[in-house]
Amino acid sequence: MIRTGPGPPTPEPQHLDRPGSHGAAELLPRVLDALPVGIGLFEVLGDDFRFRYGNHALARVLMLEQMPLDGQSVGDVFRRDEQAAIVELFRLVRVSREPQTYFAAAGGRVPARDQIWNIDAYPVFAGGRVSYIMVLAEQTDEKLQARQREQLEANRLRRKADHLASLEKAKSEFLRLASHELRAPAAMLGGYLSMIEDESLGPIPERLRPVLPLLKAKAAQINMLANEMVEAARLEDGRLQLKRKRVDLRELLRRSLKAAEPNGTPKHRLRFDDRVGHELWVLGDPMRLEIVTGNLVDNAIKYSPAGGDVTAQLSTVGGLAMLSVRDQGIGIAPEDMRRLFVRFSRLAPYGDVPGTGLGLYLARELARLHGGDIAAVSKPGKGSEFTLSLPLESSQK
Ligand code: ADP
Repeated sequence: MIRTGPGPPTPEPQHLDRPGSHGAAELLPRVLDALPVGIGLFEVLGDDFRFRYGNHALARVLMLEQMPLDGQSVGDVFRRDEQAAIVELFRLVRVSREPQTYFAAAGGRVPARDQIWNIDAYPVFAGGRVSYIMVLAEQTDEKLQARQREQLEANRLRRKADHLASLEKAKSEFLRLASHELRAPAAMLGGYLSMIEDESLGPIPERLRPVLPLLKAKAAQINMLANEMVEAARLEDGRLQLKRKRVDLRELLRRSLKAAEPNGTPKHRLRFDDRVGHELWVLGDPMRLEIVTGNLVDNAIKYSPAGGDVTAQLSTVGGLAMLSVRDQGIGIAPEDMRRLFVRFSRLAPYGDVPGTGLGLYLARELARLHGGDIAAVSKPGKGSEFTLSLPLESSQK
């Protein structure tokens, strides 16, 4: 059955304060008085600000002995030590026509030391000008705590930054010192070993012959390390200047492979995959480029402790010479890739592999000084490939 007829009766509009007789406008002062926040209204009269209205909380929050009187000047409402700041705050609101905040730390009349006053002042417009200023005053320790937290955090970050800066300085200082201390003895060691080798110090005892290449390789390693340190220190001081000339990259790579041979074990196979088949000229600093290629080849050997192929490949792409060194070693975890070229950064697991974490940093900086770059791809447990790109000398392009 369908029932027709009038629906339920529409309720009569009701006053909020039913059953009393007050309207919403009359209720407003009561609502304002119920708020825990101090509210005050000041009329702007030229340079003066006169009190017009305040709710109950205003006197309590501002710890006034009594509610200010209508027409009382702002200077008489606030404590003497705050008058100037509040007048300034009001002026700022009047001029900027924007809300402003006054933040006062606990003062004489505030009961708890960790409490503060927070006074927000808002412009009230009439006829296009700021005619009144409304203030909201709170006495709360929450904001203080937030501010203290911010302050603590800022201090912590500053201390950390200072600490990092001092560590950086210490590292640079270490580089400078160590490189000086290491270079002279390393050069002397290399010199004497060469003299022993060419028998200018007398005939080589038979038993010494087999270890001589190893000693020479180790001396060359120390020499290279010292060189790296000197170069890194120069780079940091902005003192590194390339001495460029025409360099045959193919010949340079051959030299690096030959120099690295004694570092490998019988399980390593050093291979040269020459896809160019003739000289490959670049404009570069031979000594610095040798640091780059030496590093890539040495790393390929060092970080493949189980041996395997270490393949250096030479090719060209567009106007670039591409020199890559591929190994079948331990590889690099994806999350470690971004730390590869960071100064002094060594990635786990490097076990007892000697190194400083300087080589790749220096190699990439040197490549970039030459207008080139170094990129790496790797698979953990499978091996890595580092590719140096360098602009070809213009006659080669
Ligand atoms: P290090 O003196 O430690 O060899 P590098 O700057 O040359 O310093 O290399 C930084 C780190 O990058 C190394 O400690 C190593 O963890 C990693 N690494 C460099 N080359 C290879 C590679 N071919 N295979 C695996 N890891 C490598």
